[in-house]
Amino acid sequence: MSFEALGLSRPLTTALFEKGYQQPTPIQERSIPIILKKKDLMACAQTGTGKTASFTLPLLDLLKNNHQVGSKFPRALILAPTRELSAQIKESLLAYGKNLSLKTALVFGGVKINPQIAILREGVDILVATPGRLLDLFQQGAVTLNKVEILVLDEADRMLDMGFIRDIKKIISYLPSNRQNLLFSATFSNEIRQLGKSLLKNPLEVNVAPQVVTAKTVKHKIHPVDKAKKSQLLSYLIQSKNWYQALVFCKTKHGANNLVKKLSQDNIPALAIHGNKSQSARTKALEAFKQGKLQILVATDIAARGLDIEQLAQVVNYDLPSVPEDYVHRIGRTGRAGASGNAISLVCADEIKELLSIEKVIKQTIKREEVEGFEPKHNLPIAMPRNVQNSNSKPKFTPKSKTTLKPKVTQKPKGKKRVFSR
Ligand code: AMP
Repeated sequence: MSFEALGLSRPLTTALFEKGYQQPTPIQERSIPIILKKKDLMACAQTGTGKTASFTLPLLDLLKNNHQVGSKFPRALILAPTRELSAQIKESLLAYGKNLSLKTALVFGGVKINPQIAILREGVDILVATPGRLLDLFQQGAVTLNKVEILVLDEADRMLDMGFIRDIKKIISYLPSNRQNLLFSATFSNEIRQLGKSLLKNPLEVNVAPQVVTAKTVKHKIHPVDKAKKSQLLSYLIQSKNWYQALVFCKTKHGANNLVKKLSQDNIPALAIHGNKSQSARTKALEAFKQGKLQILVATDIAARGLDIEQLAQVVNYDLPSVPEDYVHRIGRTGRAGASGNAISLVCADEIKELLSIEKVIKQTIKREEVEGFEPKHNLPIAMPRNVQNSNSKPKFTPKSKTTLKPKVTQKPKGKKRVFSR
């Protein structure tokens, strides 16, 4: 199937050709014709599947048809949960729409509002926004929303998780009722379905990926290690394997900052992005990483959500996420759009609950591989010991614990590593 066959017009297919896209991804193949027919859509797709283009391409095509030059008010509104994701959506609009004369603007919080007011005053066709800042701008009279023809909610599940639902509902109440609605989400939870019901008119549903699957192109494994040895192991892996770049996930902002300090002490250039960093620090770190000038980017889940970094070969879970689905989002940062990638998780005994929830959700046991010199003193059990099931107390595991199931060695230790599996 070609992009032309999906109904996209020449200015867009030319831009895609120049970008080197040869054929649509499954989400694009199924969503683009629906959107071009001006139907409402509810789409379930994880990042890395090409979902951004699946709505930006037809949206550009629809708007170009009756483009009034110098349009004062946004005719399309795209809401996204984070600044980084909204910035990437804008970049996609600019890249795919380079042969069109549509104007795109981006507004998000954490930066001065006045420059954004000035940009909106110049007129805009497509507005990409995070919900809070858009409401501020609306309440200050800087933007009019009654000309919006198309509304997109991107990563709607994350917007709900982040508590944006009230802002979103308010924004929707300012839009004209006669409009096209597109809702994209990584999962179709009950909450999302409810939001869809209240928002969409006879929507068509597209669900390209099962709710939680790990991208087939990503090889992922665990290195069991004691908590106290994690940063040493990470430095060792980066240096001994000559990782050109890696995206490293931490659970907390504090943990991310500490890890950057430790890596820097080992002469490994690293920067952190998380909610407490200023917007300019986050943009700077992300740009340096994208341009290959920064070796290690340490991120929390919210900051990393939706980051589109081309050809990222290595992702590291320094801590396992407490929300199992985030594991899939995290490792989805690598192996994007068909490229192959590696994801490793440094897992200590305390994280057994998180690990088992992840394995349950992804319906697979993740391969374990100890690294010589970093074998854990506190074993990482394969199954949850009985005494910690349904208990809120932190599990304490010792090598001799009777309740700890020892992993079965299925392969003789070869070279540096020992491979375990269930
Ligand atoms: P997304 O899921 O929107 O975050 O996109 C993931 C990555 O895939 C981005 O780097 C896109 O530029 C890239 N991409 C999107 N569509 C295609 C396509 N049809 N062919 C090749 N790469 C694509």
